[in-house]
Amino acid sequence: MAKSKYEYVKEFETDDRMLRNVYVLVRIDGKGFHKFSQTHDFAKPNDVRGINLMNHAARCVMHELDDILLAFGESDEYSFLFRKSTDLYQRREAKIVSTVVSLFTSAYVYYWNDYFTDLKRPLYPPVFDGRAVLYPSEVEVKDYFAWRQADTHINNLFNTSFWALVEEGGLTPKAAEARLCGTDSKDKNEMLFTEFSTNYSKLPAMYRKGSVLLREQIPKDADKDAIIPTLPETLPGSKSAKVIPAPGLQSGPDPISEPASEAPSGQ
Ligand code: ATP
Ligand code: ATP
Ligand code: MG
Ligand code: MG
Ligand code: MG
Ligand code: MG
Ligand code: MG
Repeated sequence: MAKSKYEYVKEFETDDRMLRNVYVLVRIDGKGFHKFSQTHDFAKPNDVRGINLMNHAARCVMHELDDILLAFGESDEYSFLFRKSTDLYQRREAKIVSTVVSLFTSAYVYYWNDYFTDLKRPLYPPVFDGRAVLYPSEVEVKDYFAWRQADTHINNLFNTSFWALVEEGGLTPKAAEARLCGTDSKDKNEMLFTEFSTNYSKLPAMYRKGSVLLREQIPKDADKDAIIPTLPETLPGSKSAKVIPAPGLQSGPDPISEPASEAPSGQ
């Protein structure tokens, strides 16, 4: 086919293929979810419907994109770790990030009513942003997930304390914030225990540590379609949510290693 005279505009596109042989990490985050969670009456500090819906949307992303090894979710964010060898879209950053964000967002809306059963669809379209980060080795990858999990812990301990002061203690949000100003983890744990009879360490692990989705190894000659759909049932969901052990305490197979070479890749 002859080229049109307009075709030169294609040359304005830039090459955004990411460095080869390093981990690709994509993190998405809800835009303005402080407001979104209020508008949709999320229970505070943790609305389990919201968490389960996030986990469901993340499973959809993992089903579609075979090269994602592991995903970690907390609050309105999810991180997806791609295998080092991924050649998805020839590693073009915009294609990869936009596909993850778009699929996650559409799944969030598509499955909304399965979790928020009293509301047919969200009151306005939720927005997620996304970014890709490259990590050269497992050291940075482990530290990345440790960083996100530490964030989960810090935020959740603060939010649990804040909402206890507001909802049970009758403080205004401003007063609750002032009360927590300058406190450390120990002070907050102590306050929850003595004033609100809450043993923080007994709260559901999914609230304190986030949710993890791990791709299972698929036997060499297995029928891919028959095995991959088992992923959703065995992974998050209140009780079965697997949690990343603290760094250095990992036992069993290393979740961050590349799967054995016979595992299918995303071609
Ligand atoms: P930005 O657009 O900059 O990301 P944001 O309002 O989304 O702003 P975040 O720092 O991403 O702010 O925080 C997410 C907010 O969504 C927090 O306020 C958190 O409490 C709320 N949120 C997310 N998921 C839930 C949930 N399952 N239950 C209750 N609140 C939630
Ligand atoms: P890729 O994932 O590489 O973009 P693709 O299958 O989406 O592959 P495109 O080149 O983007 O391929 O072409 C879009 C396809 O969708 C075309 O085949 C087009 O005919 C079809 N399509 C899009 N919108 C409509 C529409 N409104 N009615 C009928 N067909 C449509
Ligand atoms: Mg943000
Ligand atoms: Mg956000
Ligand atoms: Mg966030
Ligand atoms: Mg297309
Ligand atoms: Mg097209």
